[in-house]
Amino acid sequence: MSVETSVGDFVADVVRADNAAGTYSGRVQTRFPPEPNGYLHIGHAKAITADFGIAEQFGGICKLRFDDTNPDTEDVEYVESIIKDIGWLGFTPHSVCYASDYFEKLYEWAENLIEKGLAYVDEQDAETISAQRGGYGNRGIESPFRDRPIEESLALFRQMRAGEFEDGSKVLRAKIDMQSENMQLRDPVMYRIRKLAHHRTGTVWSIYPTYDWAHGQSDAIEGVTHSMCTLEFVAHRPLYEWYLSQLDLPFEKPQQLEFARLELTHTVTSKRKLLKLITDQIVTGWDDPRMPTLSGLRRRGFPAAAIRAFCTHIGVNKTNARHSIEELEAFVRAELNRVSQRRMAVLRPLKLVITNWPQNADGTPVVEYFEVMNNPEDAGAGTRSVPFAGVLYIEQDDFAEIPPPKFFRLSVGREVRLRGAYFISAHDVVKDAAGNVVEVQASYDPATRGGDAPDGRKVKSTMHWVSAAHAVDAQVFLYDRLFSTEVPGEASGDPLDDLNPASVECLENCKVEPALVDTALGEVVQFERLGYFAREENPDVTDLVFHRTLGLRDEWANIKKRTQ
Ligand code: ATP
Ligand code: MG
Repeated sequence: MSVETSVGDFVADVVRADNAAGTYSGRVQTRFPPEPNGYLHIGHAKAITADFGIAEQFGGICKLRFDDTNPDTEDVEYVESIIKDIGWLGFTPHSVCYASDYFEKLYEWAENLIEKGLAYVDEQDAETISAQRGGYGNRGIESPFRDRPIEESLALFRQMRAGEFEDGSKVLRAKIDMQSENMQLRDPVMYRIRKLAHHRTGTVWSIYPTYDWAHGQSDAIEGVTHSMCTLEFVAHRPLYEWYLSQLDLPFEKPQQLEFARLELTHTVTSKRKLLKLITDQIVTGWDDPRMPTLSGLRRRGFPAAAIRAFCTHIGVNKTNARHSIEELEAFVRAELNRVSQRRMAVLRPLKLVITNWPQNADGTPVVEYFEVMNNPEDAGAGTRSVPFAGVLYIEQDDFAEIPPPKFFRLSVGREVRLRGAYFISAHDVVKDAAGNVVEVQASYDPATRGGDAPDGRKVKSTMHWVSAAHAVDAQVFLYDRLFSTEVPGEASGDPLDDLNPASVECLENCKVEPALVDTALGEVVQFERLGYFAREENPDVTDLVFHRTLGLRDEWANIKKRTQ
């Protein structure tokens, strides 16, 4: 798999040109500006990689700025999770800032605009204002309050701040151009009244700035040079520049650069839609392993390094496109193949009794230990001892009483290899009252110790196993796509219509090799032949619980072949 080396692309070109022209005296400063109204998702990983990556590439700095201008939906839980997830992803903000730290300065600047005759208090309701704004090709209608005296707006704005008016009764609007072809410039709202406690400023403020009024000005206060956002803000750029050009700035004017959002097949990346999955109890929370949130992906076992590599690979571009989720998964498999330890685990156990297995003098069964490599991709990962005895568990799937065509695993009369141990051949089965096979009886060939026959005879299948006497119980969650369609909601408009009803399966009676008890919380191991599995990261869960990260098959390779 080719991994491109730079996130740079067009943003890097802009920075190089600015450096060559001396625009910011060679300074490069970016910010990652989440609104703390949800957990970060895979889309944010692209923005984070771009914001931090550009700063790093040019020896600059990147700050984390919470765009906390909306007390209705924001919460400290989100602030904390965002800080944690950025750190987990492998980035260190130069510092953590909050737009709410600038409320006073923004207020002062707003008064400056009123004094210059560039902003006014409008007393119409939101609906009227919206209707008057018109639309593309339609004329805008000027508010009857647009030309009110400056002193009147100033006095009203101060009363708005003092909390003297009801929510929604007044707004402060910039006075730009009600006939502009750009709707964003048709006297945009700068402040609204909202009497609700804010998670940082409490009840100090009764008015809150809008995104557009807060964003560029926060960039300017911090000294941001290159302010990256997603493409839907292209139309906001003239407004971003208009505000900045009216103010007395402490630094050079920052510039807004827009790049494409990251969208993945079978995935929604909108905090509002993700929150709906939680409130509708379709998933268990923001960190449900089926969620595309960074906390969900982490719990599922996606390594941060793989997510970073994927984001670097796709780069920063200007065309919206949906990437295949399988492509991200290919990065996850490549990383896990390199770093994860191998273990044996049986998810749906079937008892296998070796009828010619020897006994010790005291009548107890002999126990042998096989020394097995932890990771054939990494000799440094060492080896471990795996116990083997006469009663084992194998997968139910690996035995067929009547083998269908092309089934090469175990059946009566057939010889197979138990991985790293012996050749065995089955000779009998034991059934329960309902006729289900509950035990397979086999004999082993002592000459095949280590897994090869000295006479060179071959078997068609190698199977994993665990020793029944040494096995440890585990609970394993298997996951499938949360949405069955590639573009959730494409047909009906509602992604919930495309939910996969079988996106999780819990297996309660898995039998795993004893070394798995020592797996660190959150660590990912490869269960031989089955896939990658992440141990539950929550320390309150004392049982052995694993989440299947992914199966082993590289689906991306097949998709690429099909589409070439
Ligand atoms: P959402 O619609 O999920 O609420 P948002 O854009 O409102 O997303 P913010 O918290 O405001 O979320 O975003 C912080 C930063 O991350 C912004 O710069 C935003 O452009 C970027 N971002 C958000 N979603 C994506 C995405 N899917 N792909 C790339 N960047 C994204
Ligand atoms: Mg938002």
